[in-house]
Amino acid sequence: MMQKAMRLQFDPGLCVRAKSKFSECTKCVDICPSSVQLVDNLPSFARLTGVEAAACVGVCPAGAMRLSDFSATEFFFHFLKSKVRFISPKINLPCVSVLSVEHLLSLALASDETISVDLDSYEKGSSLLLHIEAMIEEANFILSSFGNKRIETNLLDLEPPSRSLSSDGEPEEISRRAFLKQATLKEALKHKIAFDDALNADEIERFEIDAGVIATIKEKHLPDKRKILLTTLKKAEIPENFEILPQEEIGFVSQKYVTEDCTNCQMCYRLCPTGALSSDSRFSLIHFDAMLCLKCHLCHDVCEPDAILLQDGFEVREFFEPKQRVLALFDIKRCHECGANFTYRGGEQICPRCALEEEEAMMLHSNAKKMGF
Ligand code: SF4
Ligand code: SF4
Ligand code: SF4
Repeated sequence: MMQKAMRLQFDPGLCVRAKSKFSECTKCVDICPSSVQLVDNLPSFARLTGVEAAACVGVCPAGAMRLSDFSATEFFFHFLKSKVRFISPKINLPCVSVLSVEHLLSLALASDETISVDLDSYEKGSSLLLHIEAMIEEANFILSSFGNKRIETNLLDLEPPSRSLSSDGEPEEISRRAFLKQATLKEALKHKIAFDDALNADEIERFEIDAGVIATIKEKHLPDKRKILLTTLKKAEIPENFEILPQEEIGFVSQKYVTEDCTNCQMCYRLCPTGALSSDSRFSLIHFDAMLCLKCHLCHDVCEPDAILLQDGFEVREFFEPKQRVLALFDIKRCHECGANFTYRGGEQICPRCALEEEEAMMLHSNAKKMGF
């Protein structure tokens, strides 16, 4: 029987570009320019894809891209269950780039043994290899502030395969044959073949915003990779000291502050895809949970006065002791005209909408007077 070809899939309801036309996210396009383009403001791509397009799955902050026959979430659990500690497109996944820094961090933290990534399968100097190396470097940079854990590369080629304890407690040699005996890895190999079969296909996938997509856009959604990381961090050893890392070295999470230029227009916390930014029922404040932030930049893109900014440093404490912070507090008053709540800036008795209507009415009245009515 022929293998079903592996396809790149896209959920427009999760893409931050669908949440606002002001979104400037182009991560998937930047990483796979030959496969992914923007059409009508949304990513579009050839229906069947090759290995190079797996990177757009890994980089998408919101989890809007995925592969039809490979789930990074399932891979995470299969990997930990297996005795293999080597991540390789020859063995257990279609391409290392289908993972994200969050996955690498979670795998390294959740595994008792050092994990290793196969870089030899990639063309030297290729953009794909550079991207994977950058992910490992970022993960290792963060891990170095946690303790002694580190992700290695090409361990399989440099020294004998990883050793682990068998079920009776005796060390067991893990050979390539042993890898392939495991059902999960057979599955992975099947996926790899199917993935390669997709290389020649060229059917354009287009996406539209229908009622179902609009319903998803309105929902707050935390991608699986973040849920995995949060769960893994809860079980991880807490560092003795918490460092502050430069924010530009961390691509998937951020800490922010709001300046006095904020007008409480509500755009950032209404559109934030995960609920990292939120408010209360009166819209009297801006709350922020850094560990729910995907660094998707949407809140910055929609903020007209540029009032929401990135903190220079990311506090490692946040990974282990996440907390909700108040970024802004607003004085909320009831409009004397329409009764709706509005953000009080000082002195005004009516809301901006009523003020505008009043201004327009005054203008009409004065024009009518000038014309002698
Ligand atoms: S959210 Fe994901 S799918 Fe949408 S533009 Fe950004 S990277 Fe691409
Ligand atoms: S930070 Fe910007 S987008 Fe958010 S409420 Fe304030 S002005 Fe609006
Ligand atoms: S806080 Fe901003 S950058 Fe973070 S997930 Fe929400 S919209 Fe994206």
